[in-house]
Amino acid sequence: KAKHIAIYGKGGIGKSTTTSNISAALAEAGYRVIQIGCDPKSDSTNTLRGGKYLPTVLDSMRDQSQPRLEDISATGFGGVLCIEAGGPVPGVGCAGRGINAAVSLLQEFNLFEEYKPDYVLYDVLGDVVCGGFAVPIREGITDRVFVVSSSDFMAIYAANNLFKAINKYAPSGGALLGGVIANGLSAAYSQAIVDDFAARTSTKVVGYIPRSLVVSQSELYGQTVIEAAPQSDHAQLYRDLANYIATTDELSVPSPLASADLRSWARDWGDRVLDARTAVVRQGEAI
Ligand code: ADP
Ligand code: SF4
Ligand code: MG
Repeated sequence: KAKHIAIYGKGGIGKSTTTSNISAALAEAGYRVIQIGCDPKSDSTNTLRGGKYLPTVLDSMRDQSQPRLEDISATGFGGVLCIEAGGPVPGVGCAGRGINAAVSLLQEFNLFEEYKPDYVLYDVLGDVVCGGFAVPIREGITDRVFVVSSSDFMAIYAANNLFKAINKYAPSGGALLGGVIANGLSAAYSQAIVDDFAARTSTKVVGYIPRSLVVSQSELYGQTVIEAAPQSDHAQLYRDLANYIATTDELSVPSPLASADLRSWARDWGDRVLDARTAVVRQGEAI
Protein backbone atom coordinates (compact mmCIF):
# COMPACT_ATOMS: atom_id res chain seq x y z
CA LYS A 1 0.00 0.00 0.00
CA ALA A 2 1.27 3.47 -0.88
CA LYS A 3 2.51 5.83 1.79
CA HIS A 4 0.84 9.24 1.44
CA ILE A 5 3.21 11.88 2.78
CA ALA A 6 2.51 15.61 3.20
CA ILE A 7 5.39 18.09 3.25
CA TYR A 8 4.35 21.40 4.77
CA GLY A 9 6.15 24.69 5.39
CA LYS A 10 5.82 28.42 4.94
CA GLY A 11 6.06 29.96 1.47
CA GLY A 12 9.59 30.16 0.09
CA ILE A 13 11.11 27.91 2.77
CA GLY A 14 12.14 25.18 0.32
CA LYS A 15 9.17 22.76 0.27
CA SER A 16 9.15 22.20 -3.48
CA THR A 17 12.93 21.92 -3.70
CA THR A 18 13.01 19.38 -0.87
CA THR A 19 9.95 17.42 -2.02
CA SER A 20 11.18 17.17 -5.62
CA ASN A 21 14.61 15.98 -4.51
CA ILE A 22 13.01 13.36 -2.26
CA SER A 23 10.81 12.21 -5.17
CA ALA A 24 13.82 12.08 -7.48
CA ALA A 25 15.86 10.11 -4.94
CA LEU A 26 13.01 7.61 -4.40
CA ALA A 27 12.56 7.23 -8.17
CA GLU A 28 16.30 6.72 -8.57
CA ALA A 29 16.06 3.95 -5.96
CA GLY A 30 13.45 2.22 -8.11
CA TYR A 31 10.19 3.26 -6.42
CA ARG A 32 7.03 4.42 -8.16
CA VAL A 33 6.34 7.98 -7.05
CA ILE A 34 3.56 10.52 -7.55
CA GLN A 35 4.18 14.14 -6.53
CA ILE A 36 1.15 16.40 -6.11
CA GLY A 37 1.74 20.15 -5.74
CA CYS A 38 -0.83 21.60 -3.32
CA ASP A 39 0.35 25.20 -3.45
CA PRO A 40 -1.57 27.74 -5.55
CA LYS A 41 1.86 28.78 -6.89
CA SER A 42 1.72 25.53 -8.97
CA ASP A 43 5.47 25.15 -9.50
CA SER A 44 6.00 22.17 -7.19
CA THR A 45 7.12 19.73 -9.87
CA ASN A 46 9.02 22.12 -12.19
CA THR A 47 12.51 20.86 -11.32
CA LEU A 48 11.37 17.31 -12.12
CA ARG A 49 10.40 18.46 -15.61
CA GLY A 50 13.14 20.72 -16.95
CA GLY A 51 11.62 23.81 -15.34
CA LYS A 52 8.33 23.56 -17.25
CA TYR A 53 4.91 24.38 -15.79
CA LEU A 54 2.07 21.83 -15.89
CA PRO A 55 -1.60 22.67 -16.53
CA THR A 56 -3.25 22.53 -13.10
CA VAL A 57 -6.12 20.28 -12.09
CA LEU A 58 -8.28 23.23 -11.08
CA ASP A 59 -7.65 25.14 -14.33
CA SER A 60 -8.44 22.02 -16.35
CA MET A 61 -11.64 21.45 -14.37
CA ARG A 62 -12.68 25.01 -15.13
CA ASP A 63 -11.88 24.73 -18.85
CA GLN A 64 -13.39 21.31 -19.49
CA SER A 65 -15.84 19.54 -17.26
CA GLN A 66 -14.19 16.12 -17.70
CA PRO A 67 -10.41 16.46 -17.89
CA ARG A 68 -8.53 13.22 -18.54
CA LEU A 69 -5.52 12.05 -16.52
CA GLU A 70 -3.28 12.87 -19.52
CA ASP A 71 -4.49 16.49 -19.42
CA ILE A 72 -3.39 17.07 -15.84
CA SER A 73 -0.32 14.92 -15.34
CA ALA A 74 3.10 14.42 -16.90
CA THR A 75 6.00 12.13 -16.25
CA GLY A 76 9.17 13.71 -14.93
CA PHE A 77 12.67 12.63 -13.87
CA GLY A 78 12.93 8.91 -13.12
CA GLY A 79 9.30 8.36 -14.08
CA VAL A 80 7.84 10.48 -11.24
CA LEU A 81 4.19 11.22 -12.09
CA CYS A 82 3.75 14.98 -11.61
CA ILE A 83 0.45 16.71 -10.82
CA GLU A 84 -0.34 20.31 -9.74
CA ALA A 85 -3.64 20.85 -7.89
CA GLY A 86 -3.47 24.56 -8.70
CA GLY A 87 -5.30 27.38 -7.02
CA PRO A 88 -8.65 29.14 -7.13
CA VAL A 89 -9.15 32.20 -9.34
CA PRO A 90 -7.31 34.88 -7.32
CA GLY A 91 -9.70 36.54 -4.91
CA VAL A 92 -12.40 33.91 -5.40
CA GLY A 93 -12.82 30.46 -3.83
CA CYS A 94 -10.88 28.49 -1.26
CA ALA A 95 -7.46 26.94 -1.88
CA GLY A 96 -8.28 24.10 0.49
CA ARG A 97 -11.48 23.22 -1.35
CA GLY A 98 -9.38 23.23 -4.51
CA ILE A 99 -7.03 20.62 -3.04
CA ASN A 100 -10.06 18.53 -2.10
CA ALA A 101 -11.53 18.78 -5.60
CA ALA A 102 -8.20 17.82 -7.14
CA VAL A 103 -7.73 14.78 -4.90
CA SER A 104 -11.35 13.69 -5.50
CA LEU A 105 -10.74 13.80 -9.25
CA LEU A 106 -7.60 11.65 -8.88
CA GLN A 107 -9.65 9.17 -6.83
CA GLU A 108 -12.31 9.12 -9.59
CA PHE A 109 -9.55 8.18 -12.02
CA ASN A 110 -8.71 5.32 -9.62
CA LEU A 111 -5.17 6.64 -9.90
CA PHE A 112 -3.85 5.28 -6.61
CA GLU A 113 -5.15 1.74 -7.30
CA GLU A 114 -4.21 1.60 -10.97
CA TYR A 115 -0.87 3.40 -11.01
CA LYS A 116 0.17 1.48 -7.87
CA PRO A 117 2.58 4.07 -6.46
CA ASP A 118 4.88 3.22 -3.56
CA TYR A 119 4.89 6.85 -2.42
CA VAL A 120 2.59 9.82 -2.98
CA LEU A 121 4.13 13.13 -1.89
CA TYR A 122 1.98 16.23 -1.34
CA ASP A 123 3.84 19.56 -1.36
CA VAL A 124 1.57 21.80 0.72
CA LEU A 125 1.75 25.52 1.46
CA GLY A 126 1.43 25.96 5.20
CA ASP A 127 1.66 29.66 6.01
CA VAL A 128 -1.84 29.70 7.41
CA VAL A 129 -3.13 26.44 8.71
CA CYS A 130 -6.74 27.42 8.12
CA GLY A 131 -9.34 24.71 7.58
CA GLY A 132 -8.49 24.89 3.89
CA PHE A 133 -4.78 24.20 4.04
CA ALA A 134 -5.33 21.53 6.70
CA VAL A 135 -7.37 19.46 4.20
CA PRO A 136 -4.53 17.03 3.32
CA ILE A 137 -3.93 16.15 6.97
CA ARG A 138 -7.46 16.11 8.34
CA GLU A 139 -9.49 14.24 5.73
CA GLY A 140 -7.50 11.01 5.64
CA ILE A 141 -5.74 12.04 2.41
CA THR A 142 -2.26 11.67 3.93
CA ASP A 143 -1.14 9.61 6.90
CA ARG A 144 2.14 11.32 7.73
CA VAL A 145 3.49 14.85 7.72
CA PHE A 146 6.94 16.42 7.63
CA VAL A 147 7.54 20.14 7.97
CA VAL A 148 10.33 22.10 6.30
CA SER A 149 11.69 24.87 8.51
CA SER A 150 14.72 27.12 8.83
CA SER A 151 15.69 28.78 12.11
CA ASP A 152 13.78 31.94 11.12
CA PHE A 153 11.01 32.77 13.53
CA MET A 154 8.32 32.96 10.83
CA ALA A 155 9.18 29.46 9.58
CA ILE A 156 9.09 28.08 13.12
CA TYR A 157 5.86 29.95 13.81
CA ALA A 158 4.28 28.28 10.76
CA ALA A 159 5.59 24.87 11.87
CA ASN A 160 4.14 25.39 15.36
CA ASN A 161 0.75 26.26 13.82
CA LEU A 162 0.89 23.09 11.75
CA PHE A 163 1.60 21.13 14.95
CA LYS A 164 -1.54 22.67 16.49
CA ALA A 165 -3.57 21.42 13.52
CA ILE A 166 -2.06 17.92 13.68
CA ASN A 167 -2.74 17.87 17.40
CA LYS A 168 -6.35 18.82 16.83
CA TYR A 169 -7.16 16.33 14.05
CA ALA A 170 -5.04 13.34 15.13
CA PRO A 171 -7.67 11.95 17.55
CA SER A 172 -10.22 11.78 14.72
CA GLY A 173 -7.94 9.96 12.29
CA GLY A 174 -5.86 12.85 10.96
CA ALA A 175 -2.23 12.48 9.88
CA LEU A 176 0.65 12.13 12.35
CA LEU A 177 3.98 13.95 12.39
CA GLY A 178 7.17 12.34 11.12
CA GLY A 179 9.45 15.25 12.00
CA VAL A 180 11.14 18.45 10.91
CA ILE A 181 13.37 18.88 7.84
CA ALA A 182 15.82 21.70 8.64
CA ASN A 183 16.50 23.54 5.38
CA GLY A 184 18.70 26.46 4.45
CA LEU A 185 20.73 26.55 7.66
CA SER A 186 23.77 28.81 7.44
CA ALA A 187 24.42 30.76 10.67
CA ALA A 188 26.18 29.11 13.61
CA TYR A 189 23.09 29.09 15.80
CA SER A 190 20.59 27.88 13.18
CA GLN A 191 20.90 24.19 13.90
CA ALA A 192 20.68 24.62 17.67
CA ILE A 193 17.53 26.72 17.32
CA VAL A 194 15.71 24.19 15.10
CA ASP A 195 16.88 21.28 17.30
CA ASP A 196 15.62 23.02 20.41
CA PHE A 197 12.25 23.85 18.83
CA ALA A 198 11.84 20.19 17.80
CA ALA A 199 12.74 18.97 21.30
CA ARG A 200 10.30 21.42 22.95
CA THR A 201 7.47 20.24 20.73
CA SER A 202 8.17 16.49 21.23
CA THR A 203 9.43 15.82 17.74
CA LYS A 204 12.82 15.62 16.05
CA VAL A 205 14.83 16.85 13.11
CA VAL A 206 15.04 14.12 10.46
CA GLY A 207 17.42 15.85 8.05
CA TYR A 208 19.64 18.92 7.77
CA ILE A 209 20.01 20.51 4.34
CA PRO A 210 22.41 23.47 4.45
CA ARG A 211 22.03 26.44 2.12
CA SER A 212 24.08 25.68 -0.96
CA LEU A 213 24.86 27.01 -4.41
CA VAL A 214 24.43 23.52 -5.86
CA VAL A 215 20.72 23.80 -5.04
CA SER A 216 20.45 27.22 -6.71
CA GLN A 217 22.39 26.05 -9.75
CA SER A 218 20.25 22.93 -10.18
CA GLU A 219 17.12 25.08 -10.01
CA LEU A 220 18.53 27.35 -12.73
CA TYR A 221 18.92 24.26 -14.94
CA GLY A 222 15.31 23.32 -14.15
CA GLN A 223 16.48 20.16 -12.39
CA THR A 224 16.69 18.57 -8.97
CA VAL A 225 20.13 18.17 -7.37
CA ILE A 226 19.72 14.41 -7.84
CA GLU A 227 19.58 14.96 -11.60
CA ALA A 228 21.93 17.94 -12.05
CA ALA A 229 24.66 17.02 -9.54
CA PRO A 230 24.22 13.34 -8.64
CA GLN A 231 27.75 13.07 -7.19
CA SER A 232 27.42 16.10 -4.90
CA ASP A 233 27.23 16.02 -1.10
CA HIS A 234 23.77 17.55 -1.35
CA ALA A 235 22.50 14.73 -3.58
CA GLN A 236 23.62 12.31 -0.86
CA LEU A 237 21.87 14.38 1.84
CA TYR A 238 18.61 14.20 -0.15
CA ARG A 239 19.05 10.43 -0.69
CA ASP A 240 19.55 9.91 3.05
CA LEU A 241 16.48 12.02 3.80
CA ALA A 242 14.40 10.13 1.22
CA ASN A 243 15.58 6.83 2.66
CA TYR A 244 14.59 7.91 6.17
CA ILE A 245 11.15 9.05 5.03
CA ALA A 246 10.65 5.86 3.05
CA THR A 247 11.67 3.42 5.75
CA THR A 248 10.73 4.91 9.11
CA ASP A 249 7.34 4.53 10.71
CA GLU A 250 8.15 6.66 13.73
CA LEU A 251 5.16 8.97 13.82
CA SER A 252 3.80 10.98 16.72
CA VAL A 253 1.46 13.71 17.85
CA PRO A 254 3.55 16.84 18.52
CA SER A 255 3.06 19.14 21.51
CA PRO A 256 2.90 22.65 20.01
CA LEU A 257 3.89 25.63 22.16
CA ALA A 258 1.17 28.04 23.26
CA SER A 259 1.58 31.39 21.49
CA ALA A 260 2.94 33.18 24.59
CA ASP A 261 5.41 30.33 25.26
CA LEU A 262 6.64 30.41 21.66
CA ARG A 263 7.18 34.15 22.00
CA SER A 264 9.24 33.83 25.19
CA TRP A 265 11.16 30.84 23.78
CA ALA A 266 12.12 33.01 20.80
CA ARG A 267 13.14 35.89 23.07
CA ASP A 268 15.47 33.59 25.05
CA TRP A 269 17.12 32.52 21.81
CA GLY A 270 17.42 36.19 20.83
CA ASP A 271 19.44 36.79 24.01
CA ARG A 272 21.70 33.82 23.34
CA VAL A 273 22.38 34.84 19.76
CA LEU A 274 23.18 38.37 21.01
CA ASP A 275 25.69 36.92 23.51
CA ALA A 276 27.30 34.97 20.67
CA ARG A 277 27.47 38.05 18.45
CA THR A 278 29.09 40.05 21.21
CA ALA A 279 31.64 37.28 21.78
CA VAL A 280 32.51 37.25 18.07
CA VAL A 281 33.06 41.01 18.08
CA ARG A 282 35.35 40.72 21.15
CA GLN A 283 37.35 37.97 19.48
CA GLY A 284 37.68 40.16 16.39
CA GLU A 285 39.10 43.01 18.52
CA ALA A 286 41.63 40.67 20.14
CA ILE A 287 43.00 39.68 16.72
P1 ADP B 1 8.63 26.73 -1.41
O1 ADP B 1 8.20 25.60 -2.27
O2 ADP B 1 8.60 26.41 0.05
O3 ADP B 1 7.88 28.00 -1.69
P2 ADP B 1 11.08 26.56 -2.93
O4 ADP B 1 11.41 25.12 -2.82
O5 ADP B 1 10.47 27.03 -4.22
O6 ADP B 1 10.18 27.04 -1.71
O7 ADP B 1 12.43 27.35 -2.62
C1 ADP B 1 12.49 28.77 -2.66
C2 ADP B 1 13.85 29.19 -3.18
O8 ADP B 1 14.86 28.83 -2.26
C3 ADP B 1 14.20 28.54 -4.51
O9 ADP B 1 14.82 29.47 -5.34
C4 ADP B 1 15.17 27.42 -4.10
O10 ADP B 1 16.11 27.09 -5.10
C5 ADP B 1 15.86 28.04 -2.89
N1 ADP B 1 16.36 27.02 -1.95
C6 ADP B 1 15.62 26.12 -1.26
N2 ADP B 1 16.40 25.34 -0.48
C7 ADP B 1 17.69 25.75 -0.68
C8 ADP B 1 18.99 25.35 -0.18
N3 ADP B 1 19.12 24.36 0.71
N4 ADP B 1 20.09 26.00 -0.64
C9 ADP B 1 19.96 27.01 -1.54
N5 ADP B 1 18.78 27.43 -2.04
C10 ADP B 1 17.65 26.83 -1.63
FE1 SF4 C 1 -8.18 30.44 2.01
FE2 SF4 C 1 -8.06 28.84 4.09
FE3 SF4 C 1 -10.09 30.47 3.87
FE4 SF4 C 1 -9.87 28.42 2.21
S1 SF4 C 1 -10.22 28.30 4.42
S2 SF4 C 1 -10.40 30.56 1.66
S3 SF4 C 1 -7.68 28.28 1.97
S4 SF4 C 1 -7.96 31.08 4.15
MG1 MG D 1 6.70 25.52 -3.68
